[in-house]
Amino acid sequence: MDLQRKLEILADAAKYDASCASSGAARKDSRGSQGVGSTGGAGICHSYAPDGRCISLLKVLLTNACLYDCHYCINRRSSNVQRARFTPEEVVQLTLDFYKRNYIEGLFLSSGIIQSADHTMELVIEVARKLREEHLFRGYIHLKTIPEASPALIERAGRYADRISINIELPTQAGLTRLAPEKNLARTQAAMGHIHGKIEERLADKRKPEAPKPPPFATGQSTQMLVGADESTDADILQRADALYTGYRLRRVYYSGFSPIPEPSKVLPIKPPPLVREHRLYQADWLLRFYDFKVGEIVTPDAPHLDLALDPKLSWALRNRAQFPADINRAPRETLLRVPGLGARNVDRILAARRHCRLRLVDLLRLRVPMKKVLPFIIAADHTPAHLDLDGDSLRQRFLPPPQQMELSLAGPPPTAADNASVLTGEL
Ligand code: SF4
Repeated sequence: MDLQRKLEILADAAKYDASCASSGAARKDSRGSQGVGSTGGAGICHSYAPDGRCISLLKVLLTNACLYDCHYCINRRSSNVQRARFTPEEVVQLTLDFYKRNYIEGLFLSSGIIQSADHTMELVIEVARKLREEHLFRGYIHLKTIPEASPALIERAGRYADRISINIELPTQAGLTRLAPEKNLARTQAAMGHIHGKIEERLADKRKPEAPKPPPFATGQSTQMLVGADESTDADILQRADALYTGYRLRRVYYSGFSPIPEPSKVLPIKPPPLVREHRLYQADWLLRFYDFKVGEIVTPDAPHLDLALDPKLSWALRNRAQFPADINRAPRETLLRVPGLGARNVDRILAARRHCRLRLVDLLRLRVPMKKVLPFIIAADHTPAHLDLDGDSLRQRFLPPPQQMELSLAGPPPTAADNASVLTGEL
């Protein structure tokens, strides 16, 4: 099989993995992608650096053959797809060729499991080692690691990669037992704990004055959870994400709506979850990481799923109207962070501006705050919301998207432009 054909197969097989932060982009089928600007067929995807910079990555699998039989995966053992396999040298050459032509700034490499977890990990590491040591490659490398591989190998992977990730896939062991019988939640978390320990160790070494420079190690880890492939509720997903953030300091948890695959297993749902569910999970994720919300405030035992019609911060505010209105000239930061429509960045701007004058609505307009959303929940120097505004039944109705014809299914309303923007910026 020639290299171009291998690239088509292995880039296409890698597109289901969202944990390189490309899930916000449209998923294009890389087969037959032609025309100006189409990079899908070559496996080039876009990722976002912590500073918001967009970087292009070559995103491929080393092989799409796999010993495991995860029901939701197109590369599973029982799947009837054409298989291909790169040698480490081929991936190295492709990466260097693309890099030198300025097509990419880095590599995202994952793999199906062949022979054994350790053998696969050794091949993946060999690609990174050759790039770093033989070709002095200084671009970004994200390696997908296999939880069953030995800790020593995972550690070696961390030495060459900027980011490493292990996909947790499903939030509960029950879900894994049903859909990915060879995978084990405790083992995956143990591997994450090991990586976390190494990252922390290196940071501590770096802080020591006089100490020799510690060997390089990945600066962060991330993971991916599938949404809608099993019965897990949004509460299950958010609780697991929260445990990963607090226990292992993950940089990101990516939520990937399960997408039907060719010749699907019979245990999978027929339809994918509504796209808006993935959006709401990302918005709830921002609330956990940057707005000091607890999982129990966003979802409850009585309502374990997020409201698909409204973003989770607005939904929380409507359930907790007694906490409003908040005075933008006096309220502490943590209260302002809970006002729907006031993002973390704007809250900090408000705190800085109110040192000099009492803020009026026109000042919020200058900050491009979404006024329709904010007005019922705030007091400003020239504004007090009408009493009925906060207590009236019509308040929720006011924020609902316009009614539209829906299918007789669980499909929710499509995400709005504001939803799409908030998933990327975290401003809610
Ligand atoms: S181990 Fe990974 S590649 Fe293999 S079947 Fe499971 S999800 Fe797919």
